[in-house]
Amino acid sequence: MNYRNILLTVCLVFMIGACNNSAENGNLLLNYDQLIEDLRVLSSDEMEGRRTGTDGNRKAREYLVYRYDEAGANVFMGGFTHEFEFTNRQGDEMIGVNVIGKIPGRSDSVIVISAHYDHIGIRDSLIYNGADDDASGTAALLTYISYFSEHTPEHTLVFAAFDAEEMGLQGARAFTQNNDFMERVKLNINLDMIAQNTKNELYAVGTYHYPELKPILKQVDTGEINLLFGHDEADSELDDWTYASDHAPFHQKGIPFVYFGVEDHEHYHRPTDEFETIPQEFYKQSVQLILNAIHTLDHQL
Ligand SMILES: [Zn+2]
Repeated sequence: MNYRNILLTVCLVFMIGACNNSAENGNLLLNYDQLIEDLRVLSSDEMEGRRTGTDGNRKAREYLVYRYDEAGANVFMGGFTHEFEFTNRQGDEMIGVNVIGKIPGRSDSVIVISAHYDHIGIRDSLIYNGADDDASGTAALLTYISYFSEHTPEHTLVFAAFDAEEMGLQGARAFTQNNDFMERVKLNINLDMIAQNTKNELYAVGTYHYPELKPILKQVDTGEINLLFGHDEADSELDDWTYASDHAPFHQKGIPFVYFGVEDHEHYHRPTDEFETIPQEFYKQSVQLILNAIHTLDHQL
């Protein structure tokens, strides 16, 4: 090969590289089979509804630790599991365990991507599998860890699978107590119920409080899904979800948040919120849209 051919080859390689990048920016590539498998496992009867303090919750946590490691997450502050104590609504002292990992970015400044892995357990011998609430968000975290372990982000991404959300956002409250760490957190992206909708609609909540995020979110490639804003004003026809899930403790510390979630549905907190009732096509598109949003926010914040 002469010098000119080498030069041409080098140019060609660079051009192909550039093409790949732009294709990925339109629709970042995800492993959907693994996503659906993670959703299936987390919402299976074996996990017994993942109620905090139960065997099923522990099994879900062990699965998450295994998958965090396999997907390429680094440990967070010395480990993947982080215990915390809290008092439940009945006044009992309880222990919860968050599962946390990170992907180092080009900067130390942090975006926390969260979902809760606990659900409400077994009632009257019926298992509440919580497939949408919130195995859907938790399985998405695993997919994003895989993606970003191969595509270095700008910010350091911390992936938090919170425990005891259903007992009053306890895992997120414990996590946000670490003031030194919180100083580096620029944004929380919280996913809670992202899989179940019949109208192809997903909400991005929080831009009423943090309007600077709206123009960024409006640039996101949303595919077939209609990305809606709202559910974040007290005086509105829509319910205010500002304090409805794990983004609330971040907001209370003054940290901007975007919460992705669907409108309440017939399976919400019912035993029918299970793997079989999840519309997989909507779920895949929702996970894709949120990845596009993470990518856009990561580059523009
Ligand atoms: Zn939830």
